[in-house]
Amino acid sequence: MITEYRTFLNPKKVYLPLTDVDSKIAKVLVEKEDRVLVGQIIAYKYNGQIKTPILSTVSGTVVGFADKIDRYSKNVDHIIIENDMLNETTELKNYRKLGAKSQPRNFVHNVTTYEGIISTAQVRNKLRDLGIDKVAVDGLYTPLKFSATTKHIVINAIFTNEPFISTDYETIIHHAEAIADGICLLGIAASTESLTVIVDKFMPAEALEELGKAIVDKNIDLVTIDVKRVKAWDYKVIKKLVKKDLSFNLLDDGVVYTTINAALMTHNAIRKGLPVTSRQVAITGDGLNINAVYDVRIGTPFTDLVNDLEGYHEVENMNLHIGSFLSGIQLDSDDFSITQTIDTINVSEYREVEEDVCIKCGDCNDICPAGILPQNIMDAELRNVNLRIVDLDTHLCVECGLCTYVCPSKINVLEWVRRAKRRVG
Ligand code: SF4
Ligand code: SF4
Repeated sequence: MITEYRTFLNPKKVYLPLTDVDSKIAKVLVEKEDRVLVGQIIAYKYNGQIKTPILSTVSGTVVGFADKIDRYSKNVDHIIIENDMLNETTELKNYRKLGAKSQPRNFVHNVTTYEGIISTAQVRNKLRDLGIDKVAVDGLYTPLKFSATTKHIVINAIFTNEPFISTDYETIIHHAEAIADGICLLGIAASTESLTVIVDKFMPAEALEELGKAIVDKNIDLVTIDVKRVKAWDYKVIKKLVKKDLSFNLLDDGVVYTTINAALMTHNAIRKGLPVTSRQVAITGDGLNINAVYDVRIGTPFTDLVNDLEGYHEVENMNLHIGSFLSGIQLDSDDFSITQTIDTINVSEYREVEEDVCIKCGDCNDICPAGILPQNIMDAELRNVNLRIVDLDTHLCVECGLCTYVCPSKINVLEWVRRAKRRVG
């Protein structure tokens, strides 16, 4: 576990991407030399009819636009804002003062500790207006999308990006009350039946105590798992909650599965009217002189953080990876900025992994949450049998990477499944 905790909240400049994988068109509302405030809408991005605001994360001056790679390694336009370090915010309405007319139907959680009752629509609208419905979209998590069929909110308080890196204990110790409140607010947004937090059996006592105190009167269930012994523990917990086999999209199963960070962002949005201006990012790997968990301003160039960590180690070939090792993205350049969907960045010396032959143990098939057979798909891909690839429902793969994770022969099973998907897709 990383023990160094740093803040990097005052970069000289922030670089905010104007588009992303979902939203390809943007309308910019500011010009060069305009002054902007924290939380000010500086552009909208469009995904069909859906319009999402882009908010400034600092106060300062728009100094220009640049074509840079984003965290998916795609070249996109960025808006550049020079930070005046004043942190001046727009007047955002404090939702604590809003009283809703009625309590959401089927809502079973204790809201009497809130100052006024907040409606489902108010929470959902605020999360959308502040762009928070897009957080935590990496890896196995779902976006914060709610529907009439959403029945369960599940919070992973073990790993930010499983199964390797934990940032959550620091966050819990510092913000337990706010996290518990954020979980309840997500419950309101979903009018949900259950709120569950999954914690590691061996979680540090201080973090567990803080979390326990914060959730005790809020109808939030705590599920304790021995993560070293239970494989695919989160899927097992969720399956028990929904009482059926999971489909390939947890949202379709009525589950919003997200992180401690998303709960904290929800609290800040609803109670303080704050957009996501910073987030926790774990920066790890033997390619850096120091590893640390950061509370970092959104838009900060990654290279600023590398400098703060006293630079790179001198190695011949470096791998830069964003997100989970299993399902994240490899980048060719470090010239990108931190966005609200980045939770981990790893910089390591490139090493050839020695794969053994498949011993047909079946572990990858057993663990697959999509209920497909990755070993058989890999076999079909190796033999170029297109019909078999289709028959095996390869398209249902959610690219979680668990098949690779469990493989005793160190085979990158996911990569074979991806190739098979591409072949017939
Ligand atoms: S990555 Fe592997 S385990 Fe995950 S859904 Fe795809 S085939 Fe199944
Ligand atoms: S886990 Fe690895 S060794 Fe076992 S069946 Fe799957 S690919 Fe083969």
